[in-house]
Amino acid sequence: AELDTLDIVVLAAILLGTVAYFTKGKLWGITKDPYASSFANANGVKAGKTRNIVEKLEESGKNCIIFYGSQTGTAEDYASRLAKEGKSRFGLETMVADLEDYDYDNLDEIPSDKIVMFVLATYGEGEPTDNAVDFYEFIYNDDVSFSSGNEPALGNLNYVAFGLGNNTYEHYNSMVRNVDKALQKLGASRIGQAGEGDDGAGTMEEDFLAWKDPMWKALQEKMGLEEREAVYEPVFGVVERDGFTKDSPEVYLGEPNKMHLDGSPKGPFNAHNPYIAPIAKSYELFSVKDRNCLHMEVDISGSNLTYQTGDHIAVWPTNPGAEVDRFMNVFDLAHKRDDVISVKALEPTAKVPFPTPTTYDAIVRYHMEICAPVSRQFLATLAAFAPDEEAKSEMTKLGGDKEYFHSKVNIYHFNIARVLETVGKGKKWSNVPFSALIEGVTKLQPRYYSISSSSLEQPKMVSITAVVEQQYLPGREDPFRGVATNYLLALKEKQNGEPNPAPFGQTYEIMGPRNKYTGIHVPVHVRHSNFKLPSDPTKPIIMIGPGTGVAPFRGFIRERKRQAEHGEEVGKSILFFGCRKESEDFMYADEWKEAKAVLGDKLEIVLAFSRDGPKKVYVQHRLKERAKEVNELLEKKAYFYVCGDAANMAREVNTVLGQILAEQRGIPETKAEEVVKNMRAANQYQEDVW
Ligand code: FAD
Repeated sequence: AELDTLDIVVLAAILLGTVAYFTKGKLWGITKDPYASSFANANGVKAGKTRNIVEKLEESGKNCIIFYGSQTGTAEDYASRLAKEGKSRFGLETMVADLEDYDYDNLDEIPSDKIVMFVLATYGEGEPTDNAVDFYEFIYNDDVSFSSGNEPALGNLNYVAFGLGNNTYEHYNSMVRNVDKALQKLGASRIGQAGEGDDGAGTMEEDFLAWKDPMWKALQEKMGLEEREAVYEPVFGVVERDGFTKDSPEVYLGEPNKMHLDGSPKGPFNAHNPYIAPIAKSYELFSVKDRNCLHMEVDISGSNLTYQTGDHIAVWPTNPGAEVDRFMNVFDLAHKRDDVISVKALEPTAKVPFPTPTTYDAIVRYHMEICAPVSRQFLATLAAFAPDEEAKSEMTKLGGDKEYFHSKVNIYHFNIARVLETVGKGKKWSNVPFSALIEGVTKLQPRYYSISSSSLEQPKMVSITAVVEQQYLPGREDPFRGVATNYLLALKEKQNGEPNPAPFGQTYEIMGPRNKYTGIHVPVHVRHSNFKLPSDPTKPIIMIGPGTGVAPFRGFIRERKRQAEHGEEVGKSILFFGCRKESEDFMYADEWKEAKAVLGDKLEIVLAFSRDGPKKVYVQHRLKERAKEVNELLEKKAYFYVCGDAANMAREVNTVLGQILAEQRGIPETKAEEVVKNMRAANQYQEDVW
């Protein structure tokens, strides 16, 4: 009955054309299609929306707002999950909010019967995520001031906080820690602990689950909330659009926004609006059968995109066909995969995470992270829709028992469809509302790559150096394969004459929606980073970049080679590169020779092969062997760069550098660690790690 009403609303709205209509007191600006979401505004310009949070809570009748500071989508996802749970268990009127969308100078006016939650990821060197920069600068500031002048300023504010971080970084979870500190200082009351999830230890999801239960309890007590039987309430309504077929020009088949749909994409190209870039060339860098590393040259000359040596390029992947099919089959969507639907938020504060009208196929292929790790909480939610009692109890067990879940799902890297295939013993999960999938499966995220070209040498051609993600996991027959890198591999195969590229049986819709990517294109945008060469080219540089960590240093070295060719004086550059075997994965060997021919003594490449000799040699070992020289260069204010594996290498390099300085300068190790810290603070030590 719900959908019927909605249908009428849709029809009415279509008839009214450009007339706006009201939902729960909130104005929906309607242009051509009433379901055109904010994606039509590709660049995040949200006209007419209030930035006043107090006003927003009031007009939407909400009493719990969950702010997120998110870079890769995980924090946003956790925020949505908290919103959902708050609503279904405690009847809270929740809304999720992007920190970027509001002003904060009236946080002091939020009444004490409302709850504010913060889900904050820490990015890179303890930085806020892009969307949280303004908030962070506002709140973590000694001069912060609010509109009302209350004392203490935030005496009315009741808040909850969870941080997403990575303990391999020095400033672990500094966002949530600093925001928590600042809020306390301003007199706000925290409910429960400030939670911290650790991606470095791989326990993010479990940390989140372990934090939220006591938090809900504390919240319940503090606010006097009654827990009720959790009932599933869809956040999104799905309407079949009979008047359309997948060939109707209004229907999104994977186009990221209206400009792309209309065939006139234009810049600025950014995280809301990719540039469909031609790949000029692509080739394999390894000379070994079972592992791949791609070099790709992405042509941005047709766009107004720019980059600087050291920046990142984001690749927007497409899901592999085999996994799209598996998902379609298990949720019984295959027979209607090309049916046209509109999706509408049933809550004025929820956002449909893709543009509509569209098809099930397009949503699953281009917008959902269907291969991602499965969350235990999601399995528990889906238990209610299991095809039989046995599957239901298995889902409840998987959802509730951490160890059991780990042994059955996690260690095999299974995705959601695979888990349900197994649990349901092949039965279709037809009862799962599509809304539950939109809510429970995260948005497909662009993947970042450290640009491996020099903008001085080729300002309009960006190169990527990417190792193809595959893992052989004991007990799993087929290897686990990463989404973006296998898609790129398929593009490379196609470009190099493979007529039906399907690496390892994974087919991809390489031509993109409506064949718009024909001729080997990939959707990208550029993200500017702080990982930069010294502005003075005569400064020495020390670069530690094993494996694909070498990517930005290829750019650095090419840049210095170019400068030298133009008669500029360049400082000494030392690259520590490591891989398994010289004969297998020593990439760019010829290029280093060419650079050496120009730079001579100014360039040194120090190699570490871990599997070529009787002893495993890593870059850290080579660095230590060069202790004296490294110290001398640092005394001459050399810049020190580390790129690649965050979990082990970057941390060890940091330790080794401390040891080198202690030994060479005759100072205690604690003092040397202090020196390294200061180098970081002064940008003399820069990391680009993942
Ligand atoms: P994904 O599908 O994203 O999988 C990645 C990992 O996630 C897997 O290995 C696995 O550990 C986990 N995972 C995924 N699905 C599951 C599941 N169902 N169950 C359990 N675990 C799962 N890479 C490069 O090769 N070169 C670069 O220059 C480079 N630069 C980078 C720079 C930055 C700033 C960042 C943040 C990352 C960089 N990366 C780089 C890494 C890159 O962004 C991708 O993470 C990488 O290529 C893998 O992407 P993918 O889509 O192929 O794998």
